[in-house]
Amino acid sequence: MRYISTRSEGAPRQFCEILLEGLAPDGGLYLPERYPSLRLEDLSRLRTIFDQDGYANLAYEVLQFFVDDIDASDLKALCVRTYTEEVFASPLIAPVRALEEGLFIQALSNGPTLAFKDMAMQLLGNLFEYQLSRTGKRLNILGATSGDTGSAAEYAMRGKKGVRVFMTSPKDRMSAFQQAQMFSLQDENIFNIAIEGVFDDCQDIVKAVSSDLAFKTNYSIGTVNSINWARLLAQVVYYFAGYFQVLSQTGLNVGQKISFSVPSGNFGNVCAGHVARMMGLPIDQLVVATNENDVLDEFFKTGVYKVRTSANTHETTSPSMDISKASNFERFVFDLLLRDSGLTKSLFDDQISNKGFFDLSKNPLFTHLKEKYGFISGKSTHQTRIATIQEVYAKHHQIIDPHTADGVWVGRGVAQRGTPMVVLETALPIKFASTIVEALGKEPPRPSKFEGIESLSKKVLNLPRDVGLIKELIKANCND
Ligand SMILES: *Cc1c(COP(=O)(O)O)cnc(C)c1O
Repeated sequence: MRYISTRSEGAPRQFCEILLEGLAPDGGLYLPERYPSLRLEDLSRLRTIFDQDGYANLAYEVLQFFVDDIDASDLKALCVRTYTEEVFASPLIAPVRALEEGLFIQALSNGPTLAFKDMAMQLLGNLFEYQLSRTGKRLNILGATSGDTGSAAEYAMRGKKGVRVFMTSPKDRMSAFQQAQMFSLQDENIFNIAIEGVFDDCQDIVKAVSSDLAFKTNYSIGTVNSINWARLLAQVVYYFAGYFQVLSQTGLNVGQKISFSVPSGNFGNVCAGHVARMMGLPIDQLVVATNENDVLDEFFKTGVYKVRTSANTHETTSPSMDISKASNFERFVFDLLLRDSGLTKSLFDDQISNKGFFDLSKNPLFTHLKEKYGFISGKSTHQTRIATIQEVYAKHHQIIDPHTADGVWVGRGVAQRGTPMVVLETALPIKFASTIVEALGKEPPRPSKFEGIESLSKKVLNLPRDVGLIKELIKANCND
């Protein structure tokens, strides 16, 4: 399998060539040349593998459709090393539980940082180390985080040979729990940098350093943001695992359809569902559940994709979905436009840059979108999330986090009788304790390994908002 960019017809590239990259050189995103197409007997075989040999072996089977340039035995070993009960706190890795008639929750949030980003980032850490060691290269990852992404990246890259992580975050803006999670890491290859400013300041610093091409090349600067293809690919696996578990729990047969409801921000998670569906996984609806930052809900309802200004980007109680544009969305639009890279480029490059929006409402491809791709959307508000958390607790004695509450709220609203709906649980409630206290009047339970983390000693460097100082820090501490 080779990979092409959504914006050009340049020469296709191999998986390991794009592994360490974010955007393609033309500004587009990478996608496989075509999607593998699975028949019912293939699905039955994968189901048997999952049931008998577990998640790691299923991950290998899904990945090998997309990866030609890693030996099969190495790829399998990487999957087996990544998806362990020890790291994901469950032998099923992404276990499905029934919440109520027709509605299931799939936990993607039992990894080291208690958010779904671990599902992909843990594999990425092992893939990076593998690729760097066989090419003799080094990587200095520079990132900006307001919480989930940075900690998932650090826990995935800690101790990995050839990799260093320089992670900026806005000083005193993360929750005490999030700060403790990141800053308590004492690994030599992890550098936490608290910047005097807000998240956008951190992102600006990363952009400024990355756009200094000489610096970027000399110091092997890379990123781990959500547009990385390998991250998206790793996420495809849990849609298969969720499907097979629902079959076992309901007695349905391979081939019968189920739906997924996905709390969405940058469209990475639900885009993996789109890839699974394109491969032939029997998915009926793919529910794009947004919060008040409803760029995606607006598109799926109207055909207009309009990015928000930072003044129009709301700070909500589901902060990991607070986005002004959805950075993976171009991948789906490319498929929707029957892979017309010229048109995709004109929409995202010209129209978004010049007008801030594009409008596909009159395009017949948009009119048939729902039948052809299964996408449907909805949004939650602070009130509906709080009410959902309260109601799920009262009825089922389960505490769900505000992002998962968004998925439950929107998913219930569009579920079809007779078709199971699986809501993806993207974080554990302890990460967003203050909202749980607001809803339920008490703290959510804390997994025992996180007891007392706020009092661990912290390794963090405080710096002013200064690109030059960050560069000095990287120079002095980087891999070379
Ligand atoms: C990142 C994140 C999301 C949004 O996922 P996307 O792939 O950006 O759509 C939702 N919930 C939580 C808890 C997250 O960390």
